[in-house]
Amino acid sequence: MPLKLIRADITKLSCDAIVNAANSTLLGGGGVDGAIHKAAGRGLLLECMKLGGCKPGQAKITGGYNLPCKYVIHTVGPKWRGGTHGEKETLQSCYREALRLAEENGCGSVAFPLISAGVYGYPKAQAFRVAVDAITEYLLTGDLLVYLVIFDSAAYQISEKLYGEIAAYIDDCYVERHSDTPAQQYSRLYDGESFPLAPSAPDVPCAAANPADDTDMFCDALKTCAAKQPVELEEALRRLDESFSEMLLRKIDEKGISDAACYKKANIDRKLFSKIRSNRLYKPSKPTALAFAVALELPLAETGELLQKAGFALSHSSKFDIIVEYFIRRGVYDIFRINEALFAFDQNLLGG
Ligand code: ADP
Repeated sequence: MPLKLIRADITKLSCDAIVNAANSTLLGGGGVDGAIHKAAGRGLLLECMKLGGCKPGQAKITGGYNLPCKYVIHTVGPKWRGGTHGEKETLQSCYREALRLAEENGCGSVAFPLISAGVYGYPKAQAFRVAVDAITEYLLTGDLLVYLVIFDSAAYQISEKLYGEIAAYIDDCYVERHSDTPAQQYSRLYDGESFPLAPSAPDVPCAAANPADDTDMFCDALKTCAAKQPVELEEALRRLDESFSEMLLRKIDEKGISDAACYKKANIDRKLFSKIRSNRLYKPSKPTALAFAVALELPLAETGELLQKAGFALSHSSKFDIIVEYFIRRGVYDIFRINEALFAFDQNLLGG
């Protein structure tokens, strides 16, 4: 199951469990803890009073009471003390323990806030990194749908340097877009290759000086054209023969990876992958198609080919496309890193 970054108020989510960044008394506090208790009502507090508190890095589960979720999993994050007091390990443990409890209680979906990233002072970008790493590690074997809920500004999630570089890259691409011809844009986008399906101009000879010769030459040119086109058309139709699904499965084989490794790396749900696998004419969305290109670590030209099978292309008039291109060009195929950047720029995310 995938990890989804969403911007929301966690108290409004109707997934099976939401996680509370609680304090060790478990008796309510400020921030997300206060919001959860307020929305859940007094029943939650009464149940929490029986739990005897909770140590940092551990987790306990209660009912959801007036919340739209079934359960609240309370975990206590570390207070930031400079990063040298095992804060990272404690924070990792919060995510692992909460996920374990969710699984043990038969949950299908769970939503996390950014634990410790508020009053407890864990630097937000680092807290975010720990969260994403811990959840993705779990997802290698686990089968929950996990939401990471971002409540405030997103720009901090990636380092300022990366944010600046991507912003500059977007600017450059937009500028290039206004100064290049479409052919140049395509060639730039696909590492200097010419457009693969562009119809090649027929070899029409230049007009001759003599008008009689002109007619003959024109007829010859037409014949050449007529003789050539069926072959080109056949060739084009042959290319069309391979569908998105077939190309995807072929490339998975060529890479020598398992289906599961591929859809997990693509942050795609197993059910969606099964649909694509069983329906050769399945047309995925652009974020899904691109997610597979990233999971397969395809270079830009091959990414373009796979996208084309789904009826899409990378375009410099879309920030989403430019950001994905930025990472592919640099050989960065970690879908969660790419999604962090997409999220920071308020774009759709890759994957299911
Ligand atoms: P901690 O004490 O662990 O730092 P906080 O509640 O102060 O916990 O903050 C944890 C994170 O939860 C912060 O990133 C904060 O922005 C976020 N947050 C606060 N309220 C909500 C909410 N209603 N839904 C989701 N996230 C929230």
